[in-house]
Amino acid sequence: MKTIEEINQKIANKEAIILTAAELKLMVRDGKEVTVDDVDVVTTGTFGVMSGTMAVMMVPVAEKNSFERADAIWLNGVPAQPGPCPNERLGVVDLVINGTAHANEQYGGGHLFRDLVKGKTIDVTVEAHGKQYENQVTLDEIEFARIITTRLAFKNYNALINPASPTINTIFSVTGLTGPFTETTVSGCGEINPLQNDPSHRSIGVGTRVLLNGAPGYIMGKGTRASPDKPNVSAYADMKDMNPTMMGGMKTAHGPECLTSLAVPIPVLDEEILSGLKILDQNVPLPVADVNGRTAHAKVNYGNVWGGTDKVIRAEKDRCLHHPDCAAMRTCPTEAISNDCAINRDLCINCGTCTLQCSEGVFLARLGSIELAEGTVPISLRQSDRARAERLCTMLKNRILEHKFVPTKMLEPL
Ligand code: SF4
Repeated sequence: MKTIEEINQKIANKEAIILTAAELKLMVRDGKEVTVDDVDVVTTGTFGVMSGTMAVMMVPVAEKNSFERADAIWLNGVPAQPGPCPNERLGVVDLVINGTAHANEQYGGGHLFRDLVKGKTIDVTVEAHGKQYENQVTLDEIEFARIITTRLAFKNYNALINPASPTINTIFSVTGLTGPFTETTVSGCGEINPLQNDPSHRSIGVGTRVLLNGAPGYIMGKGTRASPDKPNVSAYADMKDMNPTMMGGMKTAHGPECLTSLAVPIPVLDEEILSGLKILDQNVPLPVADVNGRTAHAKVNYGNVWGGTDKVIRAEKDRCLHHPDCAAMRTCPTEAISNDCAINRDLCINCGTCTLQCSEGVFLARLGSIELAEGTVPISLRQSDRARAERLCTMLKNRILEHKFVPTKMLEPL
């Protein structure tokens, strides 16, 4: 049995062995014997649509005494809720803004959060007592800006199906979920998800230090809709330390959604913890749910999603026939495709939509399928990016190796 203090001393001495979850799983798949002495910390992570993401900020608007208190506020057209503190006559507005709030069909809170972190200038509009006040700000000028999640990193999410004929516009689809049983859309990073790798919550609890959107932050506790079977967590971090490639927004058939990431170090203290870390995709259940009310329909596993499939989308640009209205470009939920079929890898979340929309086969990836009693149902959309989550795990590993991130002991269990 090791202690976190011993592991942290090894990290300080640059003697610790840190593996990403993907590196450990590769060793397990290769049949290598891995013991507690072989690894000190495993970095786990997830990246995808996380609707329970919001920001709390204090935004400068005008000179003191310009207005008494804000009645309404928008950032780049995305509506926020002023308060709770009214900041009477101070010219600043405390606000809460949801990652799922929409300015229009293309742009929402998630896009706004990334633009702020990228250092872009943001338009601020305030209504107070029937008058409008305008300002432009960057994140540097916003004294307080934190992302807070009401829930993220669900241990295992759902594959969604539509059992009936009418297409359903839902946040779980980009072009509308068709039926009956013609496609399924999936979320979750399977075997590298933090909660999947710590089933007894020995490492993940209140006060556990994590990376939220690439920034050092902390777990606050359980998230909304957490249950013993499907736990999730809430967390917070300072937006000023975030990495714009580890967050963002994506279009869905029901408007823009928010992309959020979480990485958690799991210190390998004993055999029980190591055994939890050895779980593989084929042993991670993936419930299949009817998109209407999310009632359970069947159960498959994450081997269907991430086993023998392509995590990264390829582009064969020579196949392009230059259609004037390129369906792949039009439907790409992150606007990652340019006129010459190049994929902006900072924006692309490897969702797979373009592989089904391009009639010339420019965009290629095996997305997998699930087997149901009704037949084989192809996976048409991945709302989590396993490749990016693996990069996030590597980012956390490197920070630990450089002694820029030190794992903490939780203060209380979840
Ligand atoms: S996989 Fe294709 S459709 Fe999806 S984000 Fe990347 S470029 Fe866009």
